[in-house]
Amino acid sequence: MRLSTITNWAYGATVALTLLSGTTMLLASGAEERERAAVAQRATFDQLTATLEEDVYRLSEQARGFVVTGNPSHMIVYRRELAELKSVEDRVQHLKDAGASATELQALQQALHWADALLDEQEVALKAAQQGKDRTARAILFGDEYGREMDRVAAQVAKFQYMLDHRTDQAVATATDSARLWRTMSEIMLGATALLFLCVLYFILKQRILHPVVRLSDVVTRLAAQDYAAIPPDLRQVDEIGDMAQAIRIFRENGLERQRLEQEQEDNRAMRDLLSRMTQRLQGCDNMRDLAEVVRRFTPEIAPLFAGRLYIQDSRSSMMQQVCQWGVPAQSRADFPPSACWALRRGQPHRPAGDAIDIPCDHLDGMADAATLCIPLIAQGESIGLLYLERAQDALPDEVARTEKYIEMLAENIGLALANLRLRDALRDMAMADALTGLANRRHFDEVLKFQVEQTERNGTPLSCLILDIDHFKHFNDEFGHDAGDAVLQAVGGVLGQALREKGNAFRLGGEEFVLLMPGFQPDQALERAAQVQQEIRNLRVEHRGKALGAITASFGLAAFPDHGAADRLLRTADAALLRAKRDGRDRIVVAAERDPSASAAA
Ligand code: GH3
Ligand code: MG
Ligand code: MG
Repeated sequence: MRLSTITNWAYGATVALTLLSGTTMLLASGAEERERAAVAQRATFDQLTATLEEDVYRLSEQARGFVVTGNPSHMIVYRRELAELKSVEDRVQHLKDAGASATELQALQQALHWADALLDEQEVALKAAQQGKDRTARAILFGDEYGREMDRVAAQVAKFQYMLDHRTDQAVATATDSARLWRTMSEIMLGATALLFLCVLYFILKQRILHPVVRLSDVVTRLAAQDYAAIPPDLRQVDEIGDMAQAIRIFRENGLERQRLEQEQEDNRAMRDLLSRMTQRLQGCDNMRDLAEVVRRFTPEIAPLFAGRLYIQDSRSSMMQQVCQWGVPAQSRADFPPSACWALRRGQPHRPAGDAIDIPCDHLDGMADAATLCIPLIAQGESIGLLYLERAQDALPDEVARTEKYIEMLAENIGLALANLRLRDALRDMAMADALTGLANRRHFDEVLKFQVEQTERNGTPLSCLILDIDHFKHFNDEFGHDAGDAVLQAVGGVLGQALREKGNAFRLGGEEFVLLMPGFQPDQALERAAQVQQEIRNLRVEHRGKALGAITASFGLAAFPDHGAADRLLRTADAALLRAKRDGRDRIVVAAERDPSASAAA
């Protein structure tokens, strides 16, 4: 109810009560009027009855005076008063009009009847006196019968007076009672009006205004301080306070929405910072291991609701191989053929669990209903990797939708970094390869040797190094031309490239000098392999422009760790052995002496 309605009702009730109390006041004053009228009527009746009795006595006295004295003045007074007695009767008639009851009037009639009888006797006595019959007249007016009649009139008047008194007493009492009652009623009404007015005032002020206003002002103060935990009281009342509460509720909802948007913007900014930091780190990665480490560290920060794995396509086996994981993904094998993944097949993100029915990938095993997401990492139109994600069971849809936006950027960044790394690897391979023979070059050899030496020293496994130099190579150049020399180099390079199962361990050091690194080879095994190579080179038949170039031989120096000295001096030790092979007449293999002192001397 609106305050104005309550106020109107309260005013209405107050006016009604005021009218009621006014009416009761009027009724009270009417009752008092009646009380006064009853008292006045009684006084009138008293006076009339008193006059009646007095007149009867006065007439009797005048009659008696005339009878006793014979004085005519008594007769004159008697006649005049008798005439006036008529008007007394008139007044009796007035009494009737003034409300005297029938029984009262009957009593009065009786009294008048007795009085009339007295008057008759007085008339008889006066006539007798005028005729000189004084004795008879006296006998009438002073006789016992006359006295009794006088008493009867007096008694009847007393009776009438008693009846009047009784009735008027009762009327006065009733009027007084009702006057008192109505007065009390009017006082009660007045009190009730005042009380109602005060109650309404109290209710409106305290219950409907003061309390809600205090609560609302508390909420407003907290909201102004951006404390949106302050909840406005649920004032459903249809009035200005209710409108105010509604306005504050809307204000709070707007504030919350603004706060949410600000938070979202802040999250967005933080996430973009994170993505840009990750991109910078990815750009700086030299190799796959670094890249995997960056992805493993950053992805759970960017997509905290997802566990996952990063797969890279292995160039030799063509299999997708896991390079890192984060969280605890329940599904997806560590390696699988690209055809096992629908995302890789279609070159588009694939999300089998969800609203739409779709086919789960073959590389998934375990719970079929887990929410998985495969995103292909594409470079130059070719899928080169896969970002596999698995959503946490308790993730909220809102958060997931927000995160998926970043996942796309994340996948794009990883894909780009992967492509960069590939490009860099290709360039590096080009820089590390010898263009003529296709074997790795001197620079690459240095790296590989360093790596193999570290491995060897760490694991204590053997490592053999075979160095060879083509004999009298200058002669091919001189006799058949530089191109013929190149053909010889290519042929020998071909032999070395096939000499080991591990393809990356044959090198062209420069000119017509080659090296084979044989990790895990004991000296005797390495020697055996060297002999095979020597024989294959001998067997080479190289032609240039239709001309046979003649026999090709080479001299070999072989050194092995740990038998022939420190791992880091292996090349020098082998080189020293090669020098001896040349010195001893070429086309031979010289194995370094056990802990060859010449190696340290050469160093
Ligand atoms: P030795 O038996 O003592 O090793 O004699 P050699 O002639 O093989 O050795 P030497 O060092 O005297 O000659 C090497 C020559 O190889 C000199 C250089 O012109 C030639 N050469 C170096 N690199 C290439 C190349 O890439 N192609 C060709 N065709 N010749 C090269
Ligand atoms: Mg040489
Ligand atoms: Mg040579």
